[in-house]
Amino acid sequence: MSIRSCIVIGAGPAGLTAGIYLGRANLKPLLLTGRQPGGQLTTTTEIENFPGFPQGLPGPKLMEDMEAQARHCGAEIVYDEVSALEPGAEGRPHAVSLGTERLEAHTIILATGASPRLLGLPSEQTFWSRGVHTCAVCDAGFYRGREVAVVGGGDSALEEATYLAKMCAKVTVIHRRRELRASKVMQARALGTPNIEFAWDSVPEEFVGREEKGKTVFAGARLKDVKSGETRMLECAAVFLAIGHIPNTSLLRGRVDLNDEGYITVDAHLNTNVPGIFAAGDVHDRRYRQAITAAGYGCQAALEAERYLTHHGLS
Ligand code: NAP
Repeated sequence: MSIRSCIVIGAGPAGLTAGIYLGRANLKPLLLTGRQPGGQLTTTTEIENFPGFPQGLPGPKLMEDMEAQARHCGAEIVYDEVSALEPGAEGRPHAVSLGTERLEAHTIILATGASPRLLGLPSEQTFWSRGVHTCAVCDAGFYRGREVAVVGGGDSALEEATYLAKMCAKVTVIHRRRELRASKVMQARALGTPNIEFAWDSVPEEFVGREEKGKTVFAGARLKDVKSGETRMLECAAVFLAIGHIPNTSLLRGRVDLNDEGYITVDAHLNTNVPGIFAAGDVHDRRYRQAITAAGYGCQAALEAERYLTHHGLS
C-alpha cells in the first residue's frame, strides 16, 4: 500500500482550503468528506461576511466552488466516512480506516467540524425531523404559512428565525435569558421583523404531541419560565434548535488530546499532541467559528503539514 503525503478528514471550509493548498504544493492530498460534504455552510442561507463577495452568496454555492477549486488544484475528494484513526507510533505513518479499507499517510489534518447541540430532552428524539429540527434552510418548506419556534439567542438562532419569518406566519424565538447573544446587526434585523416574537427567560421543558387520525403529531413545546418556574404551552408546528454546536471528535477520543469540552487541543501551529497530525477549524476552535477563520486554519494546517513533510524528508 502506498503511503500518502496527507489525508484531510472533513470537507468544510477548513478541509477544502487545506486541500487547495496541499494540491497546489503537488502533495496530492486525499480529502475524505464524511457525512456532510461542505460542512455546516451547506445548511446556511446567505453568507454576507465572506470577503470577496460584496452581494453575499448562498452557503452551498460557496462550498461547491471551494470543492471545485480544491479538485482543480489537485486534491482527490472521496465521499466516505472515516471509521477509525490510528496515529502511527514514533514517526510511523498514520492510518485511517474507511470500513474495511485502511489508508496510510505521513500527515493527517483533522477538519471534522462541529454539529448542532441538542437539548437532550427525551421528546426531542420522539419528534426528531417531524417537529424538532436543526436546519431551517433544509426543513422550513414543510411549515410554510404556519407558526414555528426557534430555540437560542445567538447569531444562528436569529438567522434561522429571520429565514423562517419569510415563509411562516409567525416565529417565536425561545431564549433562556432576556439579552441576546447575537451580534447587533442580527438583533436589529430580528427585532425589526413584525412576525418574530420572543419568549424571554424561557426553555423548552418537553415537546408535546397530540393524537390525530391514530397518530401522534407534534403540537408544540411546554415552556418553563426559568425565573418564576411557571410553565406554559407554546403551540406551534415545529421547533428549530439553534443552541450552539459540539465538536465532531467522538472518533478521536483517546487518539489525540481533547479538552474538557471535546475540542482538539493544538499549539500555535495547529499541531495536536501527535507529531504529523494537525487540526483545523471548528473542531479545535470554540472561539471564532466563522467560515473565514476555518478557511484560514485550513491554510495554516496545510502549510504546517507541508513543512513537516519537508523537515522529515517525506516529500
Ligand atoms: P452561540 O453563539 O454559542 O449561541 C448559542 C445560543 O444558544 C446562546 O444564546 C445560548 O444561550 C443558547 N443555548 C446554549 N445552550 C442552551 C441550552 N441548553 N438551552 C437553551 N439555550 C441554550 O452559537 P451560534 O448562534 O450557533 O453561533 C456560533 C458562532 O457562529 C458565533 O461565533 C456566531 O457569531 C457565528 N455565526 C455567525 C453567523 C453570521 O455571521 N451570519 C451566523 C450564525 C453563526 P446564552 O446566550 O444564554 O448562552
